[in-house]
Amino acid sequence: MEPIFTPALHKQRHQFVIDFVKRNRPRKVVDLGCGECSLLKKLKFHREVEVLVGVDIDGAKLKKCMHGLAPIPTDYLQPTYDQLHIELYQGSVTQNDPRLRGFHLVTSIELIEHLTLPDVERFSEVVFGYMIPAEVIISTPNSEYNPLLPGLRGFRHSDHKFEWTRAEFQSWAVKVSSEYGYEVEFTGVGEAPPGQQERVGYCSQIAVFHRLRGRDGCNILFADDAEDLLSYTLLYTVNYPSLHDNNILRRVLVSEVIYWTEKLKRRWREVRTEERDESIVWCQTAAEGDECFRSSECGAEINRLMEHCGRYMAENQEEEVFGTKGQGKQESCRLQSRCVSIPLAVLWTSCPKVSALSGNLSNLRHLLTTDPEVKLSQDGSSLLVDLQEQDLEEEGDHDLEDSGYTEVSQCSYSAAQEEDWEPNV
Ligand code: SAM
Repeated sequence: MEPIFTPALHKQRHQFVIDFVKRNRPRKVVDLGCGECSLLKKLKFHREVEVLVGVDIDGAKLKKCMHGLAPIPTDYLQPTYDQLHIELYQGSVTQNDPRLRGFHLVTSIELIEHLTLPDVERFSEVVFGYMIPAEVIISTPNSEYNPLLPGLRGFRHSDHKFEWTRAEFQSWAVKVSSEYGYEVEFTGVGEAPPGQQERVGYCSQIAVFHRLRGRDGCNILFADDAEDLLSYTLLYTVNYPSLHDNNILRRVLVSEVIYWTEKLKRRWREVRTEERDESIVWCQTAAEGDECFRSSECGAEINRLMEHCGRYMAENQEEEVFGTKGQGKQESCRLQSRCVSIPLAVLWTSCPKVSALSGNLSNLRHLLTTDPEVKLSQDGSSLLVDLQEQDLEEEGDHDLEDSGYTEVSQCSYSAAQEEDWEPNV
């Protein structure tokens, strides 16, 4: 039946909800009679939605489809600040469950016609009298359109208990609205052929209910919740990774910091080699296919970090950092210059993603302090990067367990210095 519409009628119904969500930005949405979760699977991509719940009486159907709601690898690899929590319940819309209260939007797409008329009454009490959402979208077949559907005899589906005309649907919806303090408007999807729209209306009729001001669902919500039974069975729940979760934020930040320190190390080794034989360095870099260090933004940022580190070490009268005098140095000098101390303030200003993720300098320090993969100076003001690790390995020095981190604590920025940076960043 539905292929006579382009896009297919079920897609038009879901698109109607999605357009509504884009316009009205509800944060908590529940889809009653969610079936194969196809609407939920579309809604999960809408960043305004933070809580998405599906309810269906058919638990087997939910179990079959629920994994399609799970996060995909990109959600873990590149988490954003968006938050999304999804739950699926097996249960009947004729029963109350306190977990479904306090939602901004309830949708019920092609569900009510599967209920007996007494159950439609019960459904009305549950949705409008108990859940009390701010907005409700209900769609159901418009029986006036049926004569236009090729080959149809009787109802559109064998499980339908009724199919209403526009007048029947509107009379039910207006009654419910006045009883429970809502206002309602009518529309639909699946237009009739030219010239017949007014006579038969839309193929799927839709009512959009808005809770009237002054009807405060929240007060009622807390009054009797404690006594309410949890009548639905939770089948599936998932939290999408979000940078609002401190553990995830720390993991992403640390990977970014490690990324920059690795770049810095490579660049430092390049500079050293460059000074020995400049032509070889660029050949190696090109062979690795890494254009980054030569000219791109990333290279500029690394060079900025290198400059800061070099300047810093010079100011502290260390052996020069980047190794031009590395040949034949005494062991004590080598140990001192093995590690470079990068003030967190420098890292914060030089690495855009690091600053975006941490927000401010003290937060950056706080997030890095407890991470075992990152070494900070004793006062926590600087990141310690062991630049010579690889060289020493190459030279057969296996005593690298504490390679230089303790030796350079003397050369880190003081906490007081770091605080001076803060107003500038
Ligand atoms: N809303 C979905 C959509 O738009 O694709 C599916 C609609 S399907 C035609 C009707 C769904 O309502 C079925 O999945 C059915 O299991 C569910 N259903 C029927 N009676 C129910 C009840 N009392 N409580 C909850 N779900 C019910």
